[in-house]
Amino acid sequence: MNYPDRFDVIVIGGGHAGTEAALASARMGSQTLLLTHNIETLGQMSCNPAIGGIGKSHLVKEIDALGGAMGLATDLGGIQFRVLNARKGPAVRATRAQADRIRYKSAIRGMLENQPNLTLFQQAAGDLIVDNDSVCGVVTETGIRFLSKTVVLSTGTFLGGVIHIGLDQSRGGRAGDPPSNALAERLRALPFRVDRLKTGTPPRLDAKSVDFSGLETQPGDTPTPVMSYMGKQEMHPAQVNCHIAHTNEQTHDIILANLERSPMYSGVIEGVGPRYCPSIEDKVHRFADKNSHQVFIEPEGLDTHELYPNGISTSLPFDIQLKVVRSIKGLENVHITRPGYAIEYDFFDPRDLKHSLETRFIHNLYFAGQINGTTGYEEAGAQGLLAGLNAARRAQGLDAWWPRRDEAYLGVLVDDLITLGTKEPYRMFTSRAEYRLLLREDNADLRLTEIGRGLGLVDDQRWQAFSTKREAIERENQRLSSLWVHPGSAGAAELETKLGKPLSREYRVSDLLRRPELSYQDLALLDGGTAVDDPQVAEQVQIQAKYQGYIERQQNEIDKLKRHEATALPEALDYQRVEGLSHEIRQKLEEARPATLAHAARISGVTPAAVSILLIHLKKRR
Ligand code: FAD
Repeated sequence: MNYPDRFDVIVIGGGHAGTEAALASARMGSQTLLLTHNIETLGQMSCNPAIGGIGKSHLVKEIDALGGAMGLATDLGGIQFRVLNARKGPAVRATRAQADRIRYKSAIRGMLENQPNLTLFQQAAGDLIVDNDSVCGVVTETGIRFLSKTVVLSTGTFLGGVIHIGLDQSRGGRAGDPPSNALAERLRALPFRVDRLKTGTPPRLDAKSVDFSGLETQPGDTPTPVMSYMGKQEMHPAQVNCHIAHTNEQTHDIILANLERSPMYSGVIEGVGPRYCPSIEDKVHRFADKNSHQVFIEPEGLDTHELYPNGISTSLPFDIQLKVVRSIKGLENVHITRPGYAIEYDFFDPRDLKHSLETRFIHNLYFAGQINGTTGYEEAGAQGLLAGLNAARRAQGLDAWWPRRDEAYLGVLVDDLITLGTKEPYRMFTSRAEYRLLLREDNADLRLTEIGRGLGLVDDQRWQAFSTKREAIERENQRLSSLWVHPGSAGAAELETKLGKPLSREYRVSDLLRRPELSYQDLALLDGGTAVDDPQVAEQVQIQAKYQGYIERQQNEIDKLKRHEATALPEALDYQRVEGLSHEIRQKLEEARPATLAHAARISGVTPAAVSILLIHLKKRR
């Protein structure tokens, strides 16, 4: 049958990409249908119930700055929050939260159900309706035809999914869910380049059978960080500890003695796995000199005894999995509630996409998430938001929008994918961004919320809160720039003690804030002033002052590159003769042979400094 209502946008798949896509499209006023296998699994975390971490929290904060759901759902479901790299510079600082998977899922579902312009429907999509190289709807497995102007496909690990536990195989999209085979076949018949990737997950453990006295305790941070710019600590449910265990030589011997029963090592799995999230058999094999690896024992939720042992993802047979976990101190009598497994699935070469995430071959069709060769909830959510907003803009007759590499990690992610493609599951790192001092997790709202408001993604409440915060930062910056302290004035003695030397002359307070020895709190109260009470404002004032020099330098590099973007790099350029380039960068440039300086700058690992060296070299040749 033909469904009687027509939609602007249909999103297939209610995972992390699909839910952000559907919410973004509906926020922009487009009539949106989210078609998914199972409404109970909307926003389900297939693997570890944790959000954020290095590079990833930057994406979550960007999704949040653009009005998305992931940050708020994390605040509503997070049971342990920590700031990683807290002692390092703000560019690499990253918030990570362990979530209660049921609370997280129900927060996402609540947002979907309460979103105007959004309709949910539970069923598998089996086919796309394509007319003249343009998609115009979707057919479900029972033959219901939904018509739309655009379609976003975000089917995750489900296309042609095959699950491996030891040498046993079964078909599935993830444990407990069916694969998406009809759709996979249909897509394979379209002119996209398709290949296989693999990912894996560890066995889950019953906390009642763990001896916690043998494990190290890892508490969350206090005060508890929040993930969303709209987040409040009061939103968080109870906070709990994680624990740390360690593999040992016995664990490694068991694994090495059974490698031939691993589908990866016996050649059964052909898909490439995530380099930065390897299975325990991979770690033991590749890093043979290490006799122990950390295992983070993380709770799956507040109302369950299940634990997630982070660091021992495996596709070894169940009997070996049991021996492996029981060889670890504290887990000697552990009961496994669910076996670990690996999954192989189809992904599509992202070089067949445009920056908007629309496919190059089928108009009005967008791909987002794991289907594009990425791994991770955050990478999926960010792409979903971009695909959803562009599908909505197309339906409204508007041009596509995407952020540049110097505006957002989302810009870096999409640009990396569509220009370089990927041969292994792609995950975000801060090192992938050339301008990481500008793209911090603390300023994603300052970078993107105004743009999001213009795109129709940001509601009045968020806009109001953001505007208040931005004004408060500006006001406080101005106050500190017009405040002076001089030798002998009130409070000067305390500053001199902290600086370890006397103030030699009168200083502007905003300049003193650039000194590493002094903090915002040291300076805000001078001259009878009061410190701002919003910690986000105080943090921003401090970071902007302390890193002003570096931030300006990075901005100059961006401006310079923009002026020289089109400068051609000669085909026969001998990179070995370009003085000052590292061996690694020379190798990358030789492989990629970029046509222009802008193209060279987009190669992951080619730094702005290297681009400047190339520019100088070109000028000398002339
Ligand atoms: P998914 O979250 O997979 O969601 C896809 C959605 O589409 C599901 O709701 C599904 O039901 C629906 N769907 C599929 N086909 C259809 C159809 N035909 N019709 C209707 N609905 C459909 N990430 C990491 O960062 N680190 C890890 O270590 C890691 N390990 C993983 C281990 C396993 C076993 C799995 C399965 C995933 C793992 N991931 C890991 C990946 C992480 O789960 C994904 O990156 C993330 O979930 C991708 O989000 P997505 O929205 O693209 O897809």
